[in-house]
Amino acid sequence: MQYISTRGGGEPKTYSEALLEGLAIDGGLLVPEQLPTVSAERLESWRALNYPELATEVLGLFATDIPRDDLAALCAAAYAPSVFAEPVPLTPIGDGLTLVGLSEGPTLAFKDMAMQFLGQALEYALERTGGVLNIVGATSGDTGSAAEHALRGKDRISVFMLSPQGRMSAFQRAQMYSLQDANVHNIAVDGVFDDCQNLVKDLAGDIAFKTAQHLGAVNSINLARITAQVVYYFWAWLRATDAVPAAQRPGFAVSFAVPSGNFGNILSGFFARGMGLPIRRLVLAANENNVLDEFFRTGVYRPRTSAQTLATSSPSMDISKASNLERFIYDLVGRDPQRVRAAWTLLADTGSFDFTADLARFADEFGIVSGTSTHDDRVATIRAVHERSGRIIDPHTADGVKVAAEYVEDGVPMLVLETAKPEKFGETITEALDIALPLSADLQALLAAPQRVVEIGNDEAALRAIIEADALH
Ligand SMILES: *Cc1c(COP(=O)(O)O)cnc(C)c1O
Repeated sequence: MQYISTRGGGEPKTYSEALLEGLAIDGGLLVPEQLPTVSAERLESWRALNYPELATEVLGLFATDIPRDDLAALCAAAYAPSVFAEPVPLTPIGDGLTLVGLSEGPTLAFKDMAMQFLGQALEYALERTGGVLNIVGATSGDTGSAAEHALRGKDRISVFMLSPQGRMSAFQRAQMYSLQDANVHNIAVDGVFDDCQNLVKDLAGDIAFKTAQHLGAVNSINLARITAQVVYYFWAWLRATDAVPAAQRPGFAVSFAVPSGNFGNILSGFFARGMGLPIRRLVLAANENNVLDEFFRTGVYRPRTSAQTLATSSPSMDISKASNLERFIYDLVGRDPQRVRAAWTLLADTGSFDFTADLARFADEFGIVSGTSTHDDRVATIRAVHERSGRIIDPHTADGVKVAAEYVEDGVPMLVLETAKPEKFGETITEALDIALPLSADLQALLAAPQRVVEIGNDEAALRAIIEADALH
């Protein structure tokens, strides 16, 4: 299996090469040359597998350059019981909806599912080449902590994670800053998230510095993350059909609802559907920053600036420029790189592009529908789900449940991806349910643990000095 750019440039890459790539050399995104397919018989033969075994089968279709035994070891380590006590439980919550639990990992959000695999795969690839890697990233909360927890203690990788001083929740700060591993470097910047992001971009643009310091990234366009997320769509379908009589299982359709920001999670579902998994609808749920809902309802994509992006109570979805959308557009235009380039040129020149003529195909051919959820919807949904099932859901998952309810169909299970645990967002839970969420002893200890962070101004020279002093070479 080879990976090519959506814009047609560069040489095809292997999976191991794609692991370490951000953007392709021509500014496009890497996609599989052709999606692997899984027959109904093959799918059925995976029913008895545990999560790491299933991950080995699914990722084995993508990572064809990694020997099968090695891949099995990477998956066993990434999804070990010490990391995910129970990987991906399914829980019915009434009204035809079932939660798919993706937040059982160390940082209580779904990003652990992909990042834990990526951490294992990166260390493996670096051992084979004898290289080292210094990951530099910017975070507003969930991504940074998932990356640090996946990479802590690795021998050939260090992490420099920039975060905006005083702008994360106490919980998010504790998850990152309490790590005492020598290869984890927390840097709090006097500024907002965009300032952190710009510092990272400026460094990555300095090719000489990037090469000399062995810099890399693990952001949401990383192809390994997308492929690792494909696994849980297969897992959820298998568990949702365990009780279906065997004769009815082939082609048994389910729908998924996905709280979305950068279009990474739902893109993995789109890949799973393209591989032959019987998915009827992929329901994209947006919060008030609903650029993607606008696109899937009207065919017009018009990203917003960071100044136009609202700070909401589902903060991990406060994104107005969906970096993975290009991979969907690539399929929409018949995998024609020239048409992808034309769309992005138009976007740069005019601030939008328009696929109104293809609007009917979004749902009919690709299965994608969408909706928006607001703060009031989140609060009402958290309350309603708690009343009917006793279950407390987080605000992002609530966005998913709210929009999912608009698309429930008779006889089609609606599986809502739970993207975070409510403990991470206690304030909104208190507003909805009028209770203070009790924290486990582990979480209380986390909040009380000593923290380790270096504070700098919004200053590229200071950042360079830290990296030069502490990077692995
Ligand atoms: C990152 C994140 C999302 C959005 O996922 P995308 O892949 O960016 O669409 C949703 N919910 C939570 C809790 C997240 O951390």
